[in-house]
Amino acid sequence: MITSETSQKHILIVGAGLTGLILAQALRYLSQTQNAANSQVRYSYSIYERDPYAFARGAGWSLTIHWALTDLHNILPPDILASFSECLVNPGAAEQGNPGKFQFLDLRTGKPKESWPIPANAASRVSREKLLALLMRNLDIQWSKKLADITHPSDSSVTAHFTDGSSATGDLLVGCDGARSMVRRLLCPAIAMPHRLPVRLIGLRVLYPVEKVRQHCEPIDVHFFQGGDPQTNVYFWFSFIHLPRLTDLDTHATCQIMMSWPYQPGFLGHETPTEMPESNADRLAWIRKLAADWAEPFRQLVYDLPPETELREIVLEDWPPRLDAWEHRKGTVTLVGDAAHGMTMFRGEAANHGVIDVSVLIRLLTASTKGESPTELEDIIQEYESEMIQRTQPAVLKSRQACIDANHYARVKGSSPLISKRAMKD
Ligand SMILES: Cc1cc2nc3c(=O)[nH]c(=O)nc-3n(C[C@H](O)[C@H](O)[C@H](O)COP(=O)(O)OP(=O)(O)OC[C@H]3O[C@@H](n4cnc5c(N)ncnc54)[C@H](O)[C@@H]3O)c2cc1C
Repeated sequence: MITSETSQKHILIVGAGLTGLILAQALRYLSQTQNAANSQVRYSYSIYERDPYAFARGAGWSLTIHWALTDLHNILPPDILASFSECLVNPGAAEQGNPGKFQFLDLRTGKPKESWPIPANAASRVSREKLLALLMRNLDIQWSKKLADITHPSDSSVTAHFTDGSSATGDLLVGCDGARSMVRRLLCPAIAMPHRLPVRLIGLRVLYPVEKVRQHCEPIDVHFFQGGDPQTNVYFWFSFIHLPRLTDLDTHATCQIMMSWPYQPGFLGHETPTEMPESNADRLAWIRKLAADWAEPFRQLVYDLPPETELREIVLEDWPPRLDAWEHRKGTVTLVGDAAHGMTMFRGEAANHGVIDVSVLIRLLTASTKGESPTELEDIIQEYESEMIQRTQPAVLKSRQACIDANHYARVKGSSPLISKRAMKD
């Protein structure tokens, strides 16, 4: 019931990537339950995305939601949650309760060098494309809205200005606009640029016959495996994006491969660091050269790549947040996800932290609808940012170290963050 005491607050979400969509769905769920409750505050939302349509930049990879899975389930509306299992990359393995082995392999021998603790809690390895498509359901996303500027009509309001000349005003703007966030650049221009790491990485998607990957890859791991070359320090990653069930008729599995090398003098005996090859053909020739002396199936997985495979550079950079890095302008602007804490993918935790960001924010907003403290957006954002920054700053640095270790074979042991336990906090 909305009473005369109920105040209305509108939230502008900038970016319809993973965290922006999760936030929008969580606010949709909150608004559904709010109507039934005697709310002190009522939150509405709108979501803006720079791209003209879904997947304009390609479909993306796969990712593991592990320690944030319970929070994700708790904040998503039932109609979205009901279809979550459709996003799994290997539904057959999930149905058999097979979590995978979490191994780091010696690429020359094929033998495991290290393994790390399997997460104690349930984990889901999902296709990013399927998850985003699911999260877009029942949302009115405003496409082709690229944020250019933020102004403040009053102390407690915020206006988003888009490059097409349009604008939108609300009480809170949440920057969910990714690793090179425009919102971050507007909040703290002098320090907003990410830190580039001394590693170069090529990522690709490829379709391989189901029989081939069932025979050669699934026995190593049902979701993903990774390894290093002890002689060159080159790193290799393989994961499924879609492995059909045994009963499905699909003939091909969608796979993801990533290869990286240390960007430093001396690599492969070269005096200067080895740059990313420019053309697709040169990139393919380069990764084949790197894999030439590897054991099977790693060598074959690289040599069998069709020449038309798109080999993308994934720029490895991060941005550890600091408590004093930006000012939330009386609780009218904040950051969530990679915009707040860009980190490399070598611990597979960035999206998990993004989920927790949304979960913490939603918990605070929900409490305020019931009149529980804090009730003002300024205090809510202060509390949210304080928790988020203290949680994620060490995580960014751990992921940085994991990236460096992955490209230095001898360092992959013991407490290296590449193989140490994944956890929300130390
Ligand atoms: C290969 C790879 C594997 C990964 N694996 C894992 C994993 O296993 N586990 C894990 O937890 N994490 C993983 N991650 C990290 C995870 O994918 C990211 O943390 C997550 O996608 C970030 O979501 P986001 O919403 O913050 O940013 P994004 O998903 O990047 O979304 C940002 C959105 O904002 C839009 N945008 C940008 N600028 C503007 C603007 N000016 N105006 C309007 N819109 C704008 C963009 O178009 C985009 O849609 C992986 C990442 C990679 C690259």
